[in-house]
Amino acid sequence: MRLLLLGAPGAGKGTQAAALAERFGVPHISSGELLRRHVAVGRKLGRKVAAYLERGELAPDALVSAVVEEALARAGPGYVLEGFPRTLSQARAADARHVDGLADAAVFLELPDDVARQRIAQRTAAGRSDDRDREVVERRLRTFHAETDPVVDYYRDRGLLVTVDATQPPDVVTTAILAALAGTS
Ligand code: AMP
Repeated sequence: MRLLLLGAPGAGKGTQAAALAERFGVPHISSGELLRRHVAVGRKLGRKVAAYLERGELAPDALVSAVVEEALARAGPGYVLEGFPRTLSQARAADARHVDGLADAAVFLELPDDVARQRIAQRTAAGRSDDRDREVVERRLRTFHAETDPVVDYYRDRGLLVTVDATQPPDVVTTAILAALAGTS
């Protein structure tokens, strides 16, 4: 199973990706987590990436794609990939690189912006610096609609999209995703 998870900040991508990866016995790859790890290491790439993360802007396509492809190469045939692709050009380039495309299905965790704002405000205690600043959160939401809504449409047009109501409790969302995926196979 090669699965993508798409959704606005606060939609629960990380939580659902972890649950699905465990369920399918495949690695969980998070583009945001990979980038944060580079920042933590603090070398040249990390310093470059840090500026984008702090501002709530997308990191450059080529940079993110390289980091994600490296993780995919290590992952083997199955994975749950979360947070990537986030732009149409990332999606198109990734599909071109992989013989069978990047994924078998893309799960869209649908969440109204006001619920996303509330959730992010609640999780600031967990310590992500890009969750703390309201302006940064608003930029991430705007960026999601401008850059990633078209990615959702891209997978819908290809018949690969499964949309799930992400306002529900996490275990209900997981069950809904599994049911929807079973319906597509
Ligand atoms: P996330 O953990 O998915 O919310 O991502 C945190 C931050 O990492 C984002 O706000 C972006 O700055 C960066 N990022 C993660 N994934 C991507 C991506 N696919 N393309 C560009 N930037 C990304």
